Order: sequence, then structure tokens, then C-alpha cells
Amino acid sequence: ATTSTDDATDDATVSDVAPLRPVVGGGTFVPLVDGTRVSYANLDVAASAPALQAVADRVTQVLPLYASVHRGAGYLSQVSTALYETARRTIGAFVGAREDDLTIVTRNTTDSLNLLAGCVPAQPDGEPGRVLVLDVEHHANLLPWQRGADATVLTGGSTVAETLTQIREELADAAAHRPFALLALTGASNVTGESLPVDEIVAVAHEFGARVVLDGAQLVPHRRISLQSTGVDYLAFSGHKTYAPFGAGVLVGRRDWLDAGTPYLAGGGAVRRVRVAGTDWHEGPARHEAGSPNVIGAVALAAACEELAALDAADVVAHENALRRRLVSGLEAIERVEVVRVWADAVDPVGVVTFTVAGYDPGLVAAYLSAEHGIGVRDGRFCAHPLLGRLGFDAGAVRASVGVGTAGEEVERLVAAVDSLVADGP
Ligand code: PLP
Repeated sequence: ATTSTDDATDDATVSDVAPLRPVVGGGTFVPLVDGTRVSYANLDVAASAPALQAVADRVTQVLPLYASVHRGAGYLSQVSTALYETARRTIGAFVGAREDDLTIVTRNTTDSLNLLAGCVPAQPDGEPGRVLVLDVEHHANLLPWQRGADATVLTGGSTVAETLTQIREELADAAAHRPFALLALTGASNVTGESLPVDEIVAVAHEFGARVVLDGAQLVPHRRISLQSTGVDYLAFSGHKTYAPFGAGVLVGRRDWLDAGTPYLAGGGAVRRVRVAGTDWHEGPARHEAGSPNVIGAVALAAACEELAALDAADVVAHENALRRRLVSGLEAIERVEVVRVWADAVDPVGVVTFTVAGYDPGLVAAYLSAEHGIGVRDGRFCAHPLLGRLGFDAGAVRASVGVGTAGEEVERLVAAVDSLVADGP
């Protein structure tokens, strides 16, 4: 299929679309420049999504059980350990971890990808392992490979089909002499919400002996993904984008590289035995989780995974597609507005829409939306400088994003506000 979701343009308003689940902070009133107060429209959930109410409730419930994990003999330590290890299993199960995969609790996606970058095996001659990455990536899925491995950054094409061909050619060319160990790819772009077809990517990478890591920061909050059924080797994502609070993220994936890699942090908990000369490091998640872990963060992320799992995946997609389509059609109907796209034939983009208004600085548009309409969006280059540069948006753009807690009314407010900006403007 090569039909973009956005092709199915739909001018009907979405005022009556309700959030799928309550989130904390919904209904917060914020002051406008004219002194009035309006309920805040948070259309910046791609940066950090407000926690689901059920997640906040779980945190309140487990906070009194706060105690050290793994080594404490006291009752609360045992309970905390059980909570932490159960959370790990819940998170792994949510993304279809294989039986032998490790689920490592990190701080966020950036942390997870840096951890993996330190575990990519070296080439037979001792040179760092090769990693193939596209220029569409968030810096979190670009810079770690340039530092920890031997990264080749491929300039993507203007269609999915063209980009897939480029990836195949690059992998095939390298296979004969210096094969890539890893292909690092976004699960969904944080600029456009678009993605490449995961099944095809995995098939082509595996054909040429490369593993695949998906940056799931913008995918996991919006779509169900299973490592087991897709064959994706590693997946990284962040709690604070998946309707949990800040501070916990995850790296899930194949055990061998992770067990052989240098421990991500040196310290207590990662070691079996320490001698003055020589340390015997653990294998398994503990190897990379030195120091006291973020128990509450892991429990909160697991609660978010349970909440998302309880939702019908088709309902999540339908809700988000309705909001996204309206954002795109509403914005594109306004003179001077351009919606940013990477691949003309992208299928099923998630609820992230980036746009520019010709003649207006993106920072001013974002400030106007906040000050005069109580709408929160993001502006800038979204930690994706190479992509924005290639597409000709070096001056930045404005990004609106939606999730399960977004109401259609918020999307309508944004479209109306941009419309009034242009109508009243210079
Ligand atoms: N990858 C993508 C696609 C993102 O959108 C982000 C954050 O915006 C990240 C990685 C980094 O996430 P974090 O800041 O939680 O490490």
C-alpha cells in the first residue's frame, strides 16, 4: 500500500472527538495576554505526554512502598524488588519481547541508544562496528552511533520506495567487505510522524547480516509494536512520551550483545564480585543498571503500558488519525501554511504534524498560539537538524502533536488560531 493517511482528506470538524483516556493536567486554566484564562490545549505531547490518570494513581499507590531493591532483606525492600521486576516484565511483554530478550531500565530513549552504541560488536580487525543510519533521525538516534560506533549517515530519498532501495544498496555494497552490524531507524519521525515499513526494513537488514534498532520514542505511544512478530532486534523508548512521568526509559532486545558489552555504568549492583585487581560483572539487565534504580519510574511506565494495552489498538489509531487528518487538512487550507513531509508515499503517520507559516518566524507563531490562545506547541528544529536542513527548513518550523488524551476541540482551536493569525497578519 502506498496511500498516505493524509490523502484521505477530511474537512469535517472534530470538535466532538473526546479523549480516549483522562490525563493529568487536563482542564488546567492558563492566563492569556488579554488577562482572560482559557483551558490549556496541550498539543506538544510528542515532547512529553502528560501522564495518564491511571499512571498517577499507581504512583500514589506505590509511593509508600519506597525501599531499596535487590539487596535489602526488609519487607518493603522485598515488595519494592517485586514491583520493579514485575514492571520490567510488563514493559517487555507490552512490546512483545522474545523469551531471551533483556529489558533494561534506563533514563530515556537517549540513554537507551547510548547504551546500545557501547555494545555494538567490533569488526574482526578490531575497528568499531559499523552502523547505518538515515539523516531523518532525531539526534538521539544519530549522535550515539557517531561516537560509539562507525556510523554511515545516509541521505534518505523523497519516497519510501526510493529510501528502501537506497538502504538495500548500502547494506548490499557493504556486505561483501565491511558489513554493517546494525541499522538504526526511527519508528516514527518526531518531525512528521512518518515511518518506513518495519517488516521490510527488518527483512532487508537481516538478509545482509545487520540487526535493527528502532527508536520507538514516537512509535510506542501511538502504535502497538512487537519485537517477536516484526523481528526488530532492539527497541528504545521513553516513559515521559508514553504517558508516564519523566525519568524512566527502556532498552529491550537481544541478549548476546548486551551481555558482552561494556557495562553502561560502573558501580554497585552491576557486579558479582569486585577484587582489587579485576571485577566480575553481571550479565542480564543488572549489568547496565548500576546504582539504585528508578523503581517508581519503572512501575509508572509499566502502568502506562497496561493502560495502553487495555485500549483497543484500532480505537487508538482511529482517534489519532481523525485528529491528524483534521490538523493537516485544516492547516493546509490556510493560505501561507505548508505542512512538512519527508516521504510522499508514507503510510499511517502518527499524530505529529509540523508546519510553517510563510512570512512568520516559527518562534513567534508558537508564542502567539500560547499567549493569545492558550495552545502549547513546539517550535525549532526538533533535534533533527540534518533533516530540517535537507528539507529547506533551516529556520525551523512549528510542531503540533496529539495523543490518547487529546480532544478534538484542541485541534479545532489550533486550526482556528493559525487561521486568525494569517487573516489578521501583515
Ligand atoms: N527519538 C525521538 C524520535 C524523539 O522524538 C525523542 C525526543 O523528542 C528522542 C528520541 C529522545 O527522547 P528522550 O529525550 O526521552 O531521550
